[in-house]
Amino acid sequence: MPILNRAAELQDEVTGWRRHIHERPELLFAVENTAAFVAEKLKEFGVDEIATGIGRTGVVGIIRGKGPGTRAIGLRADMDALPLTEITGKPYASKTAGKMHACGHDGHTAMLLGAAKYLAETRNFNGSVAVIFQPAEEGGGGGNLMVKDGMMERFGIEEVYGMHNMPGLPIGQFAIRKGPIMAATDEFTITIKGRGGHAAQPHRTIDPIAIGSQMVGNLQMIASRNVDPLRSVVVSVTKFIAGFAHNVIPNDAMIAGTVRTLDDEVRTLAETKLKQIVNGLAAAHGAEVDIVFNRNYPVTFNHATETGHAIQIASDIAGAANVNADIDPMMGGEDFSYMLNARPGAFIFIGNGDTAGLHNPAYDFNDEAISHGISYWVRLAEQRLGS
Ligand SMILES: [Zn+2]
Ligand SMILES: [Zn+2]
Repeated sequence: MPILNRAAELQDEVTGWRRHIHERPELLFAVENTAAFVAEKLKEFGVDEIATGIGRTGVVGIIRGKGPGTRAIGLRADMDALPLTEITGKPYASKTAGKMHACGHDGHTAMLLGAAKYLAETRNFNGSVAVIFQPAEEGGGGGNLMVKDGMMERFGIEEVYGMHNMPGLPIGQFAIRKGPIMAATDEFTITIKGRGGHAAQPHRTIDPIAIGSQMVGNLQMIASRNVDPLRSVVVSVTKFIAGFAHNVIPNDAMIAGTVRTLDDEVRTLAETKLKQIVNGLAAAHGAEVDIVFNRNYPVTFNHATETGHAIQIASDIAGAANVNADIDPMMGGEDFSYMLNARPGAFIFIGNGDTAGLHNPAYDFNDEAISHGISYWVRLAEQRLGS
């Protein structure tokens, strides 16, 4: 089955919504206007129940099928933008300098609204579909907060699915894999407390810059000498802040960065080793050190059975040749991971064609993907809810 006729008919209307949202980007949890737009559309479609304020500014719409049953599946989109200034020059470009939809969440929200409209019109399924619109995917963990607010229990959601556009993957194609598909994104901040002094009398100091430099070098041993080369880990130091003059060794230095892993065992090993290396080097050189290690988004883990359903639906729509069912995992993070930790499900990529990359100021969601995305959502809901 190719894309659904009705999804193709919705193309222009959904494109309008997408561009409306694109012009009005909002950050993190402060997506009040986008959430209000979503809730208003759901109301217009005759969705049975609309819950707002879940995970602060998240919205859930419940669409009941014609058939009986209490089973519900969740389809999730994200609503937030990024703190970037858009350079696309498009007529519907962001109206707010310093904010833009550079990750395509405008497109995700619009496609899920399109699916909600279709499903509310047809209702060819048993039980109910929960359309989930979350805030704060780009940091803040809005997905986590929605789960903590009891969304899964409240609406009886038994399976949950997510979708993200992928620049470089042709329009009409999908990509997915069973198991880990996106990384855990942990963050560390190391404060080295040495003893400053005259740059010409280093022997009277405890030099936090010299010690910190050894830490930066030695942290690379985690990837090169601690973790099995066939398993994945990234340790990136992204900040090193110290000093203020050519002739003064400062008291302190601060180092920060991120650790990316694809399974819990390596995640824990990397954290343990990072602390050992940093504490060991500080002790060796007489400095004090403070380490803050924040476990941020967990691994986005696609459950085998549900990934099988996703592959089947994507293949029905796009043709099996247009579905990469074993894409390499990515070391970026995604807070849909919290929903997948709460319920079985799968996260799929949809082709965005030859566009600028995500988080790039020249990026724009490709509206040609809309009918493919709507078709995927609709067929997935109808198939999983047994019509
Ligand atoms: Zn993003
Ligand atoms: Zn994103």
